[in-house]
Amino acid sequence: MLESQVDLKSLSREDRLARMRHSAAHVLAEAMVELMPEAELGIGPPIDTGFYYDFRLPRPLTQEDLAWLEDRMRQSIAKRHAFNMAQTTRAEAEKLWEKQIFKLDLLKDIEDDNITQCTHGTFTDLCRGGHVNHTGEIPAFKLTSIAGAYWRGTEKNPMLQRIYGALFETAKELEEYEKQQEEAKRRDHRKIGRDLKLFDLYGDVGPGHVVWLPNGATIRRELMRWIEDLELERGYQHVITPAVAKRQLYEKSGHFAHYQDAMYPLMEREGEEYCLRPMNCPHHIMIYQGEQRSYRELPLRIAELANMHRWEKSGQVSGMSRVRIMTLNDAHIFCADAKMVESEVGGVLRLMEDVYATLGLKDYTYRLSLGDPDDKEKYVDNPEMWVQGEALLRNVLQQVGLPFYEAKGEAAFYGPKIDVQFKTAAGKDETLVTVQVDFHLPAQFELEYITESGERARPIMVHRGILSTMERMVALLIEEYEGNFPLWLCPVQAVIIPIADRHIEYAEELAALMKKHKLRVEIDGRSERMNGKIRDAQLKKIPYMLVAGDREVESKSVAVRTRGGGNLGTAPFDDVLQQLVQERDSKSLTLNVKAASPTA
Ligand SMILES: [Zn+2]
Ligand SMILES: [Zn+2]
Repeated sequence: MLESQVDLKSLSREDRLARMRHSAAHVLAEAMVELMPEAELGIGPPIDTGFYYDFRLPRPLTQEDLAWLEDRMRQSIAKRHAFNMAQTTRAEAEKLWEKQIFKLDLLKDIEDDNITQCTHGTFTDLCRGGHVNHTGEIPAFKLTSIAGAYWRGTEKNPMLQRIYGALFETAKELEEYEKQQEEAKRRDHRKIGRDLKLFDLYGDVGPGHVVWLPNGATIRRELMRWIEDLELERGYQHVITPAVAKRQLYEKSGHFAHYQDAMYPLMEREGEEYCLRPMNCPHHIMIYQGEQRSYRELPLRIAELANMHRWEKSGQVSGMSRVRIMTLNDAHIFCADAKMVESEVGGVLRLMEDVYATLGLKDYTYRLSLGDPDDKEKYVDNPEMWVQGEALLRNVLQQVGLPFYEAKGEAAFYGPKIDVQFKTAAGKDETLVTVQVDFHLPAQFELEYITESGERARPIMVHRGILSTMERMVALLIEEYEGNFPLWLCPVQAVIIPIADRHIEYAEELAALMKKHKLRVEIDGRSERMNGKIRDAQLKKIPYMLVAGDREVESKSVAVRTRGGGNLGTAPFDDVLQQLVQERDSKSLTLNVKAASPTA
């Protein structure tokens, strides 16, 4: 026995959980060989929330299999089998694993000729160690899902079946985790996006190439108009540049050297090579460089809602949150000096705060992402620039009074940045947008401006996003609102429901008045029952239903229902119209229309 008794309590929570999860994977494999003796075993590591194990099996797994396996695992746990490590020679190990091609494949990676195996009960696995003492120390767990996974993660290898398990120290933690998973599933933007017909992905268009359907395009258009207006008010100049450029533009910027793998392949015509841009910075630099610049023009803020292209692996693209073609709410601010950078970055942070507050987003933090002076390969080697840039951003964050934390080794290759870190519905931390200070690209492109005293000087660039990409922002908002968008963003803001055919004319009259105020309204003139129509509108998450029957026609009023099931009663139509316009224009996060008006 190589592994001595381990006192779990003396370990950190992280180490303890890793041992428990790793041990549970062994027990899962044990149960699997009992279920299907011909199972070929892959690997079974611990992960953040539990463990998994990969198998090649004679048939696809079912939910019943999971239940059966879980039951067998509990039996093994009840027996408190000790985990015993033993050493064999390479030859013995090869004999032991002769029928297990994946284990033989793993053996090739092991340099040491003493091979360790772990046995509990009658089950043995190839293993380096790191267990609990016996199966009885495996706490609350649950087999959660089945997925496909290539052996060693590459498509050239066979596809295996992966079983995921969740494992926590207490039943309460496990329950909380399951609740959060259910919540994430309910909020999943891919599901809601399909239900509400916001976007779709088509095989022939390609993975990661999002198609925005009319409803999703409406939300996106509202966001784009809004942010453009906010930027124009703040002195940004909006431009439109092509998504393609010659290869040399991206060679000069350094993107080609650092990003080639993440770019679409080059296109060649008439002896020239072209690329789909992975970023917009070089295009905006061309605009800066297109004329001689004076200090009077700085800061020069160039903005664009611009298409970018990144070659994400097909296995990694997902819904709208990981895509290959995206539209970034991008801007580059050319500054004369560090002081100007500070004031511009301050302005960017304040704009962010305004925008996120309007959208009702609260679950985010600012991260100051620093370079790593020891990593000369990943980062541009210019120590002075890093020190200056990092100090500058730290300063601004403190001045604006925003809480933040620092993270080494998270910077862009050319400079430090502020990342806005969001929590997704699934509980993952994601960078939504960044603000970067860049001394590097201005030097690469030899950018200049004429100073007040007539000399040539080099500007400093700030790269920034506010709304992130339209794809990521809309995915985030779908999950944040669970599809219940605030009125100003709703694809359809109200549906008018005539009770009988004789009320259709009145409905059309109201719809025309609403459209005059640019409200997005539909009439449900189908010969369904009123309750059915209300239910359909609620499923589509349309915020307001305006019902019209004889009484309403006569008094020029409507009966108001809400998507949440509220029945607000009857109110004069003009009054409701006014309230709708007010709610939309104020970008209210809640539905505020009140039908019980004093004049009713
Ligand atoms: Zn092990
Ligand atoms: Zn940029």
